[in-house]
Amino acid sequence: MKTPKCKQCRREGEKLFLKGSRCEGQKCAITRRNYAPGQVGKSRFSKQTEYGRHLRAKQKARRIYGISETQFRLYYTKADKSKETTGPALLTILETRLDNVIYRAGMAESRTQARQIVTHGHIKLNGRRVDIPSIQVKVGDKFEARAASKKHPALKKAAENKKFKSPKWLKVDLGNLSGEILAMPGKDDAESSIDTQLIVEFYSK
Ligand code: SF4
Repeated sequence: MKTPKCKQCRREGEKLFLKGSRCEGQKCAITRRNYAPGQVGKSRFSKQTEYGRHLRAKQKARRIYGISETQFRLYYTKADKSKETTGPALLTILETRLDNVIYRAGMAESRTQARQIVTHGHIKLNGRRVDIPSIQVKVGDKFEARAASKKHPALKKAAENKKFKSPKWLKVDLGNLSGEILAMPGKDDAESSIDTQLIVEFYSK
């Protein structure tokens, strides 16, 4: 069974912003109860071992991007085999998932919502309807919401967002719910709270 999102944040002891706008409000579980779930949760953070630190870093990254254990390990293996340094290569792989791109392009409030939007077939990639959130995008790829999907409540709301500022590796026309990959995202474009060195140490044991 999947761990509820707020429980995942409490386990990591910080906001992972898994629920969109709710995460900014007073209903956020971290704002209300910032200790690990479970009966001994309040004392758990202070007892962290070296292994525990590595494990938590890996779990945090996995949870932020909503990736299964198996898939995350596959991504790590791919990053480890690449010519780039493993940590930054891993972040690039995570950032270039189609669901993350839809989230970064402001077309969804959270990665979970972005994944649903993709899975339900609302997105076209290079002119073709897709429904696989783990597709890896590359420079030059173009994405857009399908014409019939522009009335989807989340997409409609996104198109009306005038305050959105797109990351520099994406060209986004939010009013038209479309965009293009301008460059591969680097380590500075990923979630800054992720410590890839600890993740590398976790898998290197
Ligand atoms: Fe995490 Fe958001 Fe839940 Fe807060 S509201 S605990 S940030 S998922």
